[in-house]
Amino acid sequence: MWLYRTDFLENLNAYENGNFTEKALLTALRNKTSEINPGFLQLFNDGLAKEEEKYNVKFKKILTSVELTDSLGVTNEIYNTETNDTIILLGENFSQKEALLINNSTWQDDQSPIKLNFKSSIYMNITDWDAIMLKELSGLLILSSLLFLFVVSLLYYSIQNLMKQKRLAEIKTDFINNITHELKTPLSTLSLATKTLTSEHANGNKEIADNAVQIIERQNTRLQKLIDQVLQSSLGYQEIQLSKETFNSSIFMNELLDDYILSISSEIKLQRNIDSTGIPIEADQFYLSTAIINLLNNAIKYGGNELTASYGIDKMDSTHYISIKDNGIGISPKYQRFIFEKFYRISEKDTHNYKGLGLGLYYTKQIIKAHGGSILVESEGNKGSVFTIKIPII
Ligand code: ADP
Repeated sequence: MWLYRTDFLENLNAYENGNFTEKALLTALRNKTSEINPGFLQLFNDGLAKEEEKYNVKFKKILTSVELTDSLGVTNEIYNTETNDTIILLGENFSQKEALLINNSTWQDDQSPIKLNFKSSIYMNITDWDAIMLKELSGLLILSSLLFLFVVSLLYYSIQNLMKQKRLAEIKTDFINNITHELKTPLSTLSLATKTLTSEHANGNKEIADNAVQIIERQNTRLQKLIDQVLQSSLGYQEIQLSKETFNSSIFMNELLDDYILSISSEIKLQRNIDSTGIPIEADQFYLSTAIINLLNNAIKYGGNELTASYGIDKMDSTHYISIKDNGIGISPKYQRFIFEKFYRISEKDTHNYKGLGLGLYYTKQIIKAHGGSILVESEGNKGSVFTIKIPII
């Protein structure tokens, strides 16, 4: 740099003395820098070669403008990049389009009567800059993409969790409302019955007393059933202790239905479709009966008065199937995946007011899972429902 600067200052003296024109000043600068440049490039490339990372770097320092101010204070711009051909001070010439500006510098000299303001800019070019950046940043890019994915999935998970919590809270409130509702009726009936028993009116009247005692017994059984239901529901399928036996499933189904018919109103028609498959089933009779009776009770509770109980073998998946079909209110498809959840009841605004705790189907499903089987529901809403239990053939 000092090589062309000293030379330029010497020529400036000649210019001042009138021995040099402005054009000659610039030509001399151009000649001087072309003379220095090969040496500079050699130094620059040697320096680059020593670097561990081999980048293809181009460097140029170009003249931007030269202003001369004489002793009277008149400024004359003798060079600028817009009007003159580029003068490369140091480095190699490459297209301005691919040049990256590194800095601008100003050299001022006011030792001689003519003051000099000499401006230059340094540009660099790194071939394959984008590819290099991409390579250098690829780790970071992958990491940030992973982080982004992680944050998005975390957000998704939290929202899901929040919705689940909300639903759980609603289900619990519903359960408390339901159980209060369920307990109220037997308790008030019990209190009425005991009042009747202790009243003067019942004193000595056997008929009234017997009637009151029967009411007390019935309500007592009802309360007991409610409590049993809540207690049973605390069992998950892993905790259900089955005592399995192998028995004839057609006979079992027929006997179960014979008994069940006795406990229901004569207005309800219960059809049977029991295949005599001859293939024994391995199950716990007590639990399996509870599950089937739960389904039969629901079928009647939710409006069914024509039921069909079927039993047979599903050859496709090697299972015994037991299905209970009803012509009740049905279950809209949007609720079907929830009805086996603990405490879940279809909200009252979508059905009529049926009493219950939302535990029956949950418990039924736990029993069937304990047997290694499955339970599914088919219903189009309003057209009744079919619940099917499947137990694997041993
Ligand atoms: P609960 O009968 O005490 O409400 P369940 O677990 O037995 O509880 O049933 C859950 C929900 O599934 C019920 O609230 C009801 O809306 C619906 N459901 C069950 N069985 C039937 C059926 N056979 N027909 C129509 N809806 C049913």
